[in-house]
Amino acid sequence: MISPLFRFGDGAVWVSVAKTAWKEVLMKIIVDFDRCEANGVCVGIAPDMFELDDDDMLTVAEGDVAPDRLADAEEAVAQCPKAALRLA
Ligand code: SF4
Repeated sequence: MISPLFRFGDGAVWVSVAKTAWKEVLMKIIVDFDRCEANGVCVGIAPDMFELDDDDMLTVAEGDVAPDRLADAEEAVAQCPKAALRLA
Protein backbone atom coordinates (compact mmCIF):
# COMPACT_ATOMS: atom_id res chain seq x y z
CA MET A 1 0.00 0.00 0.00
CA ILE A 2 1.34 3.45 -0.86
CA SER A 3 0.45 6.26 1.49
CA PRO A 4 1.28 9.96 1.31
CA LEU A 5 3.55 11.07 4.11
CA PHE A 6 4.23 14.75 3.38
CA ARG A 7 2.99 17.09 0.75
CA PHE A 8 5.26 19.94 -0.40
CA GLY A 9 3.71 22.52 -2.73
CA ASP A 10 2.63 20.81 -5.91
CA GLY A 11 4.58 17.66 -5.30
CA ALA A 12 4.13 14.91 -2.87
CA VAL A 13 6.48 12.58 -1.15
CA TRP A 14 5.19 9.10 -0.96
CA VAL A 15 6.25 6.35 1.27
CA SER A 16 5.60 2.72 0.98
CA VAL A 17 3.84 1.28 3.96
CA ALA A 18 3.87 -2.42 4.29
CA LYS A 19 0.70 -3.56 5.94
CA THR A 20 1.17 -6.76 7.76
CA ALA A 21 -1.45 -8.51 9.71
CA TRP A 22 0.05 -9.01 13.18
CA LYS A 23 -0.67 -12.41 14.49
CA GLU A 24 0.52 -13.87 17.71
CA VAL A 25 2.46 -17.04 17.07
CA LEU A 26 2.64 -19.43 19.97
CA MET A 27 5.76 -21.54 20.31
CA LYS A 28 6.68 -24.65 22.23
CA ILE A 29 10.09 -25.58 23.55
CA ILE A 30 11.47 -28.75 22.00
CA VAL A 31 14.34 -30.59 23.66
CA ASP A 32 16.66 -32.99 21.90
CA PHE A 33 17.42 -35.28 24.82
CA ASP A 34 20.15 -37.02 22.84
CA ARG A 35 22.07 -33.73 22.92
CA CYS A 36 21.18 -32.41 26.37
CA GLU A 37 23.96 -32.90 28.91
CA ALA A 38 21.95 -31.51 31.84
CA ASN A 39 24.35 -28.67 32.58
CA GLY A 40 21.47 -26.41 33.60
CA VAL A 41 22.25 -23.34 31.52
CA CYS A 42 18.61 -23.13 30.46
CA VAL A 43 17.47 -23.58 34.05
CA GLY A 44 19.58 -20.60 35.06
CA ILE A 45 18.02 -18.45 32.34
CA ALA A 46 14.40 -19.50 32.78
CA PRO A 47 13.79 -21.57 35.92
CA ASP A 48 10.06 -21.24 35.40
CA MET A 49 10.36 -23.14 32.11
CA PHE A 50 13.18 -25.60 32.76
CA GLU A 51 13.98 -27.84 35.69
CA LEU A 52 16.56 -30.50 36.44
CA ASP A 53 15.45 -33.27 38.74
CA ASP A 54 17.60 -35.21 41.18
CA ASP A 55 18.64 -37.58 38.40
CA ASP A 56 19.71 -34.66 36.18
CA MET A 57 16.80 -35.21 33.86
CA LEU A 58 15.59 -32.03 32.26
CA THR A 59 11.90 -31.27 32.28
CA VAL A 60 10.33 -28.46 30.34
CA ALA A 61 7.12 -26.63 31.06
CA GLU A 62 4.33 -28.07 28.98
CA GLY A 63 2.31 -26.07 26.55
CA ASP A 64 3.00 -22.91 24.65
CA VAL A 65 5.49 -20.35 25.82
CA ALA A 66 3.66 -17.31 27.11
CA PRO A 67 4.33 -14.32 24.87
CA ASP A 68 5.90 -12.40 27.74
CA ARG A 69 8.33 -15.30 28.35
CA LEU A 70 9.37 -15.77 24.77
CA ALA A 71 12.50 -13.62 25.08
CA ASP A 72 13.87 -15.84 27.86
CA ALA A 73 12.93 -18.98 25.95
CA GLU A 74 14.81 -17.66 22.92
CA GLU A 75 17.77 -16.81 25.14
CA ALA A 76 17.81 -20.34 26.57
CA VAL A 77 17.76 -21.76 23.04
CA ALA A 78 20.60 -19.46 22.01
CA GLN A 79 22.72 -20.17 25.10
CA CYS A 80 22.33 -23.95 25.24
CA PRO A 81 25.91 -25.16 24.73
CA LYS A 82 24.71 -28.42 23.18
CA ALA A 83 22.19 -26.86 20.81
CA ALA A 84 19.62 -29.15 22.37
CA LEU A 85 16.76 -26.64 22.40
CA ARG A 86 14.59 -25.15 19.75
CA LEU A 87 11.29 -23.37 19.50
CA ALA A 88 8.65 -24.65 17.15
S1 SF4 B 1 21.17 -25.74 28.45
FE1 SF4 B 1 20.94 -27.32 26.87
S2 SF4 B 1 22.33 -28.95 27.51
FE2 SF4 B 1 22.01 -27.62 29.27
S3 SF4 B 1 20.32 -28.56 30.43
FE3 SF4 B 1 19.43 -27.02 29.05
S4 SF4 B 1 18.90 -28.18 27.20
FE4 SF4 B 1 20.31 -29.44 28.35
